[in-house]
Amino acid sequence: MNDFNYRDDRLWCEDVPVEVIAGKVGTPFYLYSHKTLLQHFRVFDEALRDVPHIICYAAKANSNLAILRLFVKEGGGVDIVSGGELYRALQVGADPGKIVYSGVGKRVDEIDFALRSEILMFNVESSEELGVINERAGLMGRKARISLRINPDVDPKTHPHISTGLKSNKFGIDIEKSLEEYRRARTLPHVEIVGVDCHIGSQVTQISPFIDALERLKSLIGRLREEGIEIRYLDLGGGLGITYNEEMPPHPEEYARAVIESARDLKVTFIFEPGRVIVGNAGILVSRVLYTKSNGEKNFVIVDAGMNDLIRPSIYGSYHQVQPVVIRDRGSFLADVVGPICESGDFLAKGRMIPKLERGELIAVMSAGAYGFSMASNYNSRPRIAEVLVKDRKFHVVRKREEYADLTRGERVPAFLK
Ligand SMILES: *Cc1c(COP(=O)(O)O)cnc(C)c1O
Repeated sequence: MNDFNYRDDRLWCEDVPVEVIAGKVGTPFYLYSHKTLLQHFRVFDEALRDVPHIICYAAKANSNLAILRLFVKEGGGVDIVSGGELYRALQVGADPGKIVYSGVGKRVDEIDFALRSEILMFNVESSEELGVINERAGLMGRKARISLRINPDVDPKTHPHISTGLKSNKFGIDIEKSLEEYRRARTLPHVEIVGVDCHIGSQVTQISPFIDALERLKSLIGRLREEGIEIRYLDLGGGLGITYNEEMPPHPEEYARAVIESARDLKVTFIFEPGRVIVGNAGILVSRVLYTKSNGEKNFVIVDAGMNDLIRPSIYGSYHQVQPVVIRDRGSFLADVVGPICESGDFLAKGRMIPKLERGELIAVMSAGAYGFSMASNYNSRPRIAEVLVKDRKFHVVRKREEYADLTRGERVPAFLK
């Protein structure tokens, strides 16, 4: 379900025609629907109504302040993976008591920032990190609340670059070593154990890997409790997939039902860290066709958005539907939709049967709300594009298009070169 629909052959976002926004802000730009964002958050939250839970939205999926603020206003927490994301979360008034901090490479200054901010907990990913957190908390005269991020060694059956819960992945602490690590954590004076955490991967489209991981965590929690280590939070991470093309991921209701059925009696507060499932289909990328050409074998549609704006097709081979913003009677052709970047890996769609697009017209790259803008770069010295949020009949620029001056901000030519 989303609020990008055609009316009289023109694409609208809620009650605003996409063409109108393009006319005002120029192209390319990301476009988000407030209504869809809100509904996706609420559906997830509602699905968990029967158990105590906190939804810590994974900021890295889309960290625009307006989007973070929307979920914070709904009572959500935030899953952060850097000091920068903590900064963003605090900027929008997130409750630190609902912030969890994941990631294998937390720096000392980031740990200090999180301790000062009194976040809910660190999801600790290694033995050394646990030692550093204990030390920094000691120096600050504080106690760090922690979970260990367990690597449960389950196969999430997703793209290899976004699977995180396999033994061969860099994430978390090996489940076999975790009991020992909890025992060690208990001896550390500046650490308070509060939970168990895992996150097995992203764009997971089956329930079974989640439940396999949960079963393993349940038995770990049982062992911990036998040893008198109290566990208050069970953080099951994010990773629920969405439909980009023909995937049939479980609905959040179905996912929640399976989780609750398996873990209802645990007496914990559940934490979830959804990212993609909330924002993925709540956003699109709007771009304009610059040129078309054919080399005899192949048709190319060259558009003004490139891999620096949306990198998922290039690095994961991801599928995003590409549609004209205005539907007309015309033929189709097999084409690559490519950007202006000087790389052959710069494409948004490859070998796609699409309507015969023409120079000057607008296209919509669908399902671009997650890992779109948040992965954008300035490669080829391209200013990062605008982000726009629609609510009902109005649109709001929630990040203005960068200017050339933004590209060189902070750069200096040293005196010896002058
Ligand atoms: C990326 C990430 C998430 C969010 O994953 P989605 O697939 O977007 O739901 C949640 N938790 C952690 C630790 C992550 O790294």
